[in-house]
Amino acid sequence: MQFDILTIFPDLFASPLQEGIIRRALQAGQIAVNLHNIRDFAQDKHSMTDDRPFGGGEGMVMKPEPIAACCKAAQADGSSGTVILLSPRGKQLDQNRVEQLAGLKKIILVCGRYEGVDERFCRHYVDEEISIGDYILTGGELAAMVIVDSVTRMLPGVLGCADSATNDTFSRGLLKHGQYTRPREFEGLEVPEVLLGGDHGKISTYRFLESVRETLKRRPQLFVAVEFSAAEIQILKKAGLYQDIQTAVTVYAN
Ligand code: SAM
Repeated sequence: MQFDILTIFPDLFASPLQEGIIRRALQAGQIAVNLHNIRDFAQDKHSMTDDRPFGGGEGMVMKPEPIAACCKAAQADGSSGTVILLSPRGKQLDQNRVEQLAGLKKIILVCGRYEGVDERFCRHYVDEEISIGDYILTGGELAAMVIVDSVTRMLPGVLGCADSATNDTFSRGLLKHGQYTRPREFEGLEVPEVLLGGDHGKISTYRFLESVRETLKRRPQLFVAVEFSAAEIQILKKAGLYQDIQTAVTVYAN
């Protein structure tokens, strides 16, 4: 999988790409990340990539020509890729979209700065605008890195079993249960007894119910999209949670 990142601050990516799973994926050739400095494509002698907004107003706007030229350079290998502009007005990223993006061969990530990017670049070059949340960052670089990170860990072979994605929060629409490691007692709090007993059936039921309880407490709206098997419904009824889930679904269905 290839990521091409268009930015005026390529150095911002140095450290995040050099640590942990992302570094490993780069070294193993599971991903390639090409950084393109938009400034290199500026077309005047001062290397200007931004200018004042037509119509007046605060701040500066990124000029369309340097980003367009930079985008074409990222497509010069003959593959146009999917061009994504990081933008607070875009569709909010979630795990479903991350998994879909992991099926693409090449993603071009365009990082805005200042007041954003000239609208004509968006119209002609951008396939999709993605936001990473309802707040404003100083630039698209951290958001682009969020996409590189979250998509990379979904690629086959990138995660070992030590950090498998199958039990992640959101992997089936539920939040993850709490987890425990040594020591068995910490500041007066014990590890739940069931996790120490070695009965995998009981552990699995316990974790499932804890996931459901966490989801009910923190994000009950998620139940609208969760499907339970007949066996799970029995477990939920026995634990007295099924009615609460039904209520959450009714409240959040619309
Ligand atoms: N004036 C713009 C507005 O109100 O929508 C905000 C521009 S922001 C300071 C500069 C750049 O950061 C944006 O062009 C975008 O690339 C990036 N950015 C800011 N917040 C973001 C978010 N929540 N998700 C993705 N990218 C974001």
